[in-house]
Amino acid sequence: MSDRYLDFANSGVGGWLTGALGLPRPAPLQRRAEAGAGLVGPLLLGPDGNGRLAAILGRLAGAAGQKTHAAWSPDVRYGGLVFDASNCVDAASAQGLYRFFHQAIRSVAEHGRILVIGTPPELMADVGGEAIQRGLEGFVRSLAKEARRSIAVHMLYIAPGAEGAAESTLEFLLSPRSAYVSGQPIRVGAGVAGVDQAGHKGRRVLVTGASRGIGEAITRLFVAEGAQVVALDVAGAVEGLSALKAGLGVETLALDITAPDAAESLLADALARGGYDVVIHNAGITLDRTIARMEPREWDSVMAVNLTAPLAITRTLVEGGGRRPNGRIVAVSSLSGIAGNMGQSNYALSKAAWIGAVRRLAPQLVEQGITINAVAPGFIETQMTAAIPFAIREAGRRMNSMGQGGHPADVAETIAWLADPASGGVNGQVVRVCGQSLLGA
Ligand code: NAD
Repeated sequence: MSDRYLDFANSGVGGWLTGALGLPRPAPLQRRAEAGAGLVGPLLLGPDGNGRLAAILGRLAGAAGQKTHAAWSPDVRYGGLVFDASNCVDAASAQGLYRFFHQAIRSVAEHGRILVIGTPPELMADVGGEAIQRGLEGFVRSLAKEARRSIAVHMLYIAPGAEGAAESTLEFLLSPRSAYVSGQPIRVGAGVAGVDQAGHKGRRVLVTGASRGIGEAITRLFVAEGAQVVALDVAGAVEGLSALKAGLGVETLALDITAPDAAESLLADALARGGYDVVIHNAGITLDRTIARMEPREWDSVMAVNLTAPLAITRTLVEGGGRRPNGRIVAVSSLSGIAGNMGQSNYALSKAAWIGAVRRLAPQLVEQGITINAVAPGFIETQMTAAIPFAIREAGRRMNSMGQGGHPADVAETIAWLADPASGGVNGQVVRVCGQSLLGA
C-alpha cells in the first residue's frame, strides 16, 4: 500500500515544504529488504564497555563484521547504543543512564537501535531496586518518543542466569528486522533451555489465514528461511493459496478453522506429516459495529475465528501429539485488544483474550518444551487497513513514534524471532508491532 505523505515528505520539494511548515517528516524505515537482516553496528556499550552481555555482544558484533566500543567518541556514528542497567538499585546508581545517553544519543545513526538491559523488577532484593528497574520502562518509552529518525528503542529484562538465552533476541532487536517494534519491555527467562539450533531451516510450520496480507508475508519469510510451510486458508481463498503454491512451492490446506471438525482434521493431517514445529494463529476477521448495533452473528463469528477456533486447535494439537519437540506457538493479537477501539468490542475482546491465553498456557506448555507468545500489530498497511476511510486511516498511520504504518513483513519478522528454536527464553509475552503507537499502554 502506498503512503503518499511519507513519499512526499522525503522528496526534495516535499522535504523543503514540510520543513518550512513545521510538519512532521518521518524517515522511511529500513527493513531487511533495504538493509539486510544482520546486526546494526558499530555498538557503543555502557557503562564503560561492561555489562553482563558484553561478551555475547562482542561475539555477535564480531561475527557480523562490526565493532563494539567501550568509550564514546564524537567521531563515530553508532548503529546501536546498549546500556546495561541491571545493577541499578536506586536513583544514585541510575545516574549512569543519564550520563551515557545524555552524551551519546545524538551519535546514533539514522535507523539505529537503542537497547537498555535490566533485571526483572520483581527479582530485585528491595523496594529501591524494584522501583528503579520498573522505572527503566518509563525511561525507555520516553527515549523511544524522543529518538526519531526511525531509531527503535528497546527494553530487555533478562533474568539472572538467562543471559545465554538472550542471543536470538539481541540479534532481532539490534537488526533491521525489528524496525517497527519500539518502546516496550521484552523479557528473557530460562524458558526452554538447551537448544543449540537457530533458524527455521527444515522446520515444519503451519500458518493460518496465509493466502494474503500478514499471513502471506509470514509464509514468504518462513519459506525464505528454509522452513516447510503449510499455508492454510478458507476454500474461498483458493486463488491466493494456489498462487502461493505455484510461487513458493508450499503445501496448502483449504480449511475453515471454525468448522466443527477443524481441530481434529488438522491433528490427523499434522500426525500424517510428522507434526509441526511451529503453529502461527494468524487467521482473523473484523466485523465492526458499535455494541448497540451489533448483530449476534457479528459477535459470534469474530469470537469463533479469532479466539475459540485457534484455542481449540492449540489444545488438540498439543494433547494429540501433533507437535514436535521445541515447538513454538505464536498468536496474532492486536493493538485493539490493548487499547480498545470504537466499533470493535467483539474484536478487542477476542484479541485481548489472547493476552490471557498466552499468560496461562506459557508456564504449562514450557514443561513440554513449547513456548507460546503473541504479537499485537498496530496499524499495518494491508487490504484491511486500505479499506478504512481516509481521515481515520491517516490518524492510524501517523499516531506512533515512527510516524508511519508498519508492513506485513514487520509482523512476520517479529513472529519469526519468537518462533526461532533459539528463542526458548521468550515465553508468555505479547510483543507489540506498532512503531510505539500512541494509543494504549
Ligand atoms: P486479512 O483479512 O488480509 O487476512 C486474514 C486471512 O484470514 C484471510 O486470508 C482470511 O481468508 C483468513 N481467514 C478468515 N477466517 C478464516 C477461517 N475461518 N479459517 C481460515 N482462515 C480464515 O487480514 P490481515 O490484515 O492480514 O490480518 C491478519 C491477522 O492480523 C488477523 O488476525 C488480524 O486480526 C491481525 N491484525 C491485523 C492488523 C492490520 O493492521 N492489518 C492489525 C492488528 C491485527
